[in-house]
Amino acid sequence: MNDLLEQVLGEKIDELKNKKLFRELTVLQSAQGPHVTINGRDVINLASNNYLGLATHPKIIDAAVRATKELGVGSGAVRTIAGTLQIHQELEEKLARFKQTEAALVFQSGFTCNMGVIEPLLSPEDVIISDELNHASIIDGIRLSKAARRIYPHSDMDALEKHLQECAGYRLRLIVTDGVFSMDGDIARLPEITELAEKYNAAVMVDDAHASGVLGRRGRGSVDHFNLHGRVDIQVGTLSKAIGVLGGYIAGSRKLINCLIHRGRPFLFSTSHPPGVTAANIAALEVMQEENLQEKLWENAAYFKKGLKQLGFNTGQSETPITPVIIGDGARAMAFSDALLEEGVFCTGIGYPTVPEDKSRVRTIVTAAHTREDLEQALEAFARVKEKLQV
Ligand SMILES: *Cc1c(COP(=O)(O)O)cnc(C)c1O
Repeated sequence: MNDLLEQVLGEKIDELKNKKLFRELTVLQSAQGPHVTINGRDVINLASNNYLGLATHPKIIDAAVRATKELGVGSGAVRTIAGTLQIHQELEEKLARFKQTEAALVFQSGFTCNMGVIEPLLSPEDVIISDELNHASIIDGIRLSKAARRIYPHSDMDALEKHLQECAGYRLRLIVTDGVFSMDGDIARLPEITELAEKYNAAVMVDDAHASGVLGRRGRGSVDHFNLHGRVDIQVGTLSKAIGVLGGYIAGSRKLINCLIHRGRPFLFSTSHPPGVTAANIAALEVMQEENLQEKLWENAAYFKKGLKQLGFNTGQSETPITPVIIGDGARAMAFSDALLEEGVFCTGIGYPTVPEDKSRVRTIVTAAHTREDLEQALEAFARVKEKLQV
């Protein structure tokens, strides 16, 4: 072991501990459901992205088991060599229909989509214009690109327009935004963004990780929610949140997908999904068409949000099932989360650097799988902890 490395690591860990940001991982001793077992106790789970409860849906589990028995546990190669199975293509055709685009391409995760999509498309004569609250994977994807970059204040359309004007000298201007912002639960102002894009002949990329399965008809996402089909060039989605399984995809024109097949580095250099994962994703898309799970999700979200507001909590700008409860100070947000767990409710405390230090929070996500009783109990726990910690 290298002493110097160990010393550097020790210093980094001490720094985290001094700032009270060093956290043990929370271990679930049960399946990912509306209730989970933590430290041997049954608690209400408001921490997952399993919006529709699909992670444990019997039809989807069956599909995964059947595909695994028939086709094995691993795909054995990257997609461009020997790792493209028929079901990979089937999933991509389904996703293209779901998103109403010419084509779609699956990557290992939403994270690798964002890492892999921008770099092969843009050159130094191009510019990326990005919302300041975009997800870390978009930020990393931008870092890998050689294009110029501009950041606009969150959802500030005047600032976006100014950047578009100032960047008139670049060959291609690409506006990049989350569809739903993951820490605040607000929706991107896509109608205005696409209008500005058209006015200045810019391209648009939307990352619908928290919008797919949640917004739009049967969960088609933010583009469908605002009826902007054909006006967003690149749609990124994840299969790991509302879809309940694992993976990411890019939906857009046939040319976009062909370019990524040849130049998208995670696609080229990392092994494709196992059959079980792919079959589960196909089954999940089918279940989403058969069952209107969004209705229950939104009903639950509205009920819970209203309850939190009635208790006097600050839920920020949320318009979706992601509801932050903004506490303020980082250490207090963590204490709030710990106290909630004691009261039988699991939701994570989130502080700097994920959100500004004075906007530390616990983030709640209700799902379609929660019962009204779950939500009532959770609200009672929030009320008790509010009283106890004098928030
Ligand atoms: C969660 C998330 C991702 C990453 O998706 P994974 O499939 O979990 O890798 C990407 N973008 C946004 C906006 C996200 O919220």
